Amino acid sequence: MQTLDLPTNRQLIDIDALFDLQSAHQYTVGNTTAKERIAKLDQLHKVVMDMRPQIREALYLDYRKPPAEVDLTEIYVVTGEIKHAKRHLRKWMRPHRVTTPLAFMGASSHIRYEPKGVCLVIAPWNYPFQLALAPVISAIAAGNTVVLKPSEHSPYCSAILKDIVGRVFKPEEVAVVEGGVETSTALLAKPFNHIFFTGSPTVGKIVMEAAAKNLASVTLELGGKSPTIIDETANIAGTIKRLTWGKFSNCGQICIAPDYVFVHESRHDELVEALRDQLLEFYGADVSESDSYMRIINGNHQKRIASYLENAVQKGAKIAVGGRLNADQDFIEPTVVTDVPLDSALMTEEIFGPILPIIKYRDLNEVIGFINRGEKPLALYIYSRDKRNTELILKNTRAGGTCINNSDIHFFNNNLPFGGSNNSGLGKSHGWYGFESFSNARSVMRQHIPGALELLMPPYNGTKLKLIDLTIKWF
Ligand code: NAD
Repeated sequence: MQTLDLPTNRQLIDIDALFDLQSAHQYTVGNTTAKERIAKLDQLHKVVMDMRPQIREALYLDYRKPPAEVDLTEIYVVTGEIKHAKRHLRKWMRPHRVTTPLAFMGASSHIRYEPKGVCLVIAPWNYPFQLALAPVISAIAAGNTVVLKPSEHSPYCSAILKDIVGRVFKPEEVAVVEGGVETSTALLAKPFNHIFFTGSPTVGKIVMEAAAKNLASVTLELGGKSPTIIDETANIAGTIKRLTWGKFSNCGQICIAPDYVFVHESRHDELVEALRDQLLEFYGADVSESDSYMRIINGNHQKRIASYLENAVQKGAKIAVGGRLNADQDFIEPTVVTDVPLDSALMTEEIFGPILPIIKYRDLNEVIGFINRGEKPLALYIYSRDKRNTELILKNTRAGGTCINNSDIHFFNNNLPFGGSNNSGLGKSHGWYGFESFSNARSVMRQHIPGALELLMPPYNGTKLKLIDLTIKWF
């Protein structure tokens, strides 16, 4: 696959040269067999496993991510995506036969999933390792070349990604381009065949506008506010661990974290107490001393989240649990806030941090109305033992994904499509859905023997008009 004087991944930073190189090479990569792609995925798997200590260290340096959480929510996601793709790739790559209408007798039809070509992946900082590599895995499984731009806000992870990719791929296959907004803008000006972006809805719009100039297809994995509803029948004691971890792991910097909770008024106090106890069990009395709790990515985000809390408190919200902040250390304690006004920043902005507003409700339909007045969420969680309530919520709201009696876990099942809808995203990722996003479904019809359609071709005389009439009526 390599010619002698090609640059190495470490040398190549010129975006134009890189784009041209990958463009020239796309058919070589696109024509690789399942066996060759699986061999690449195996190599990537091996390097990731070998470099596990360095990956853990990089994420600790970026935002003190606990090594156990790196294993579980970064490395395991990447190795899981690789294993899933390896298991299914042969089937995904095979032509998918479909039936042919009787009127076209004599022909057969199939779909080929061909690579889109040269793809761009732009990643965020909050799961800087897996959100960068998982789409790359789908892209190479589908036979594309890839330019990956990690987030500039997680520089240690960005460097390790460059190192890993450089060990496995040649730059004409996959290359990492590090940098911030300027680099991203320069990349977006190139006519990539597909752009896979994970980040905020605001930047998602910039990406889509840039893609439109070249009519590049896009997958946009965006964010927003993901509501949680806890009804009067919920098993709070049995599920509180799942809700607490789903919200406060990664210091709440999770696109699918429960952003706020609507709880039935009869269970409000019990919920607050359960959260207090669970947080104590997870992180101890002094959270700042806990090895299991990480930090906010940087001072700007620390200030942003702190300002939302301040705004809510000024408007009458009460801090029920936590509330301590340390700007010098990018630290915000897991915080539960009650009596939160619906017009406060905590309820109008995506929190993306360790603050959980709790709002009492009496009528479930009002909660549904409130959610539907906002943007479509990336995730919506229901804690309930009542099937009618669960169905009522599922049928009358829209969301990218939902867990019932749990939070976040739908992300980890590669048999499920992951992604949002409108403001929370366009297109899907993971497993087959990731492969599909990076593929063009090419329709192929093969004519084997003269077809019935030929009997209907001009000149349109009396017999043919009768046959056309019969076709419309009966086939
Ligand atoms: P972001 O949108 O600020 O940045 C994401 C990427 O876009 C980075 O690589 C950055 O360099 C680049 N970028 C930033 N500004 C740009 C611009 N003006 N032009 C071109 N490129 C630009 O997002 P973030 O702060 O890294 O991540 C947080 C957001 O991402 C939250 O909204 C969160 O909900 C969302 N998110 C979504 C998912 C998902 O899977 N749906 C996953 C993680 C995060």
